[in-house]
Amino acid sequence: MKFIADCMVGKLARWLRLLGFDVSYYRKIEDEELIELAAKEKRIILTRDHELIKKAEKRKSLKQKTLLIESEHWEEQVEQVLDHFKLRKKIDPNSRCLECNEKLKFLPKARAKNLVPPFVYEKAEAFALCPSCGRVFWKGTHFHDMERKLSRFVQKNKT
Ligand SMILES: [Zn+2]
Repeated sequence: MKFIADCMVGKLARWLRLLGFDVSYYRKIEDEELIELAAKEKRIILTRDHELIKKAEKRKSLKQKTLLIESEHWEEQVEQVLDHFKLRKKIDPNSRCLECNEKLKFLPKARAKNLVPPFVYEKAEAFALCPSCGRVFWKGTHFHDMERKLSRFVQKNKT
């Protein structure tokens, strides 16, 4: 399942990527262009804009391929998407590049040495590399706040 998010739900797009989902996002994009991309790449449109949904649903291939995001708050937005598409079991945190939406590749610690600051290399537990932009991501003490939020989304799965 792939998504495309409109400009108004950038934070939602970022968090969905963080949870491992394929989400296209452009800071500036015309409605027509977004609809075109959604149709071409078979993506579900996430938006807070009724008009955009109306326009998209006129296309046969985009019927039922939209979701109107209800809340203004990103956490509720994430919850809505996870629940609506029953995605909790598919959550795979830290598996996708936050910048370019590419799947990350595991990076052995030894190879990360010259790619991250020394304090990160010392403290982080696991590294991953984006094959597209070359950014290195890591798991470690630095990201506890973010990871606590992440795990909340994951844990709801078990209840
Ligand atoms: Zn990247």
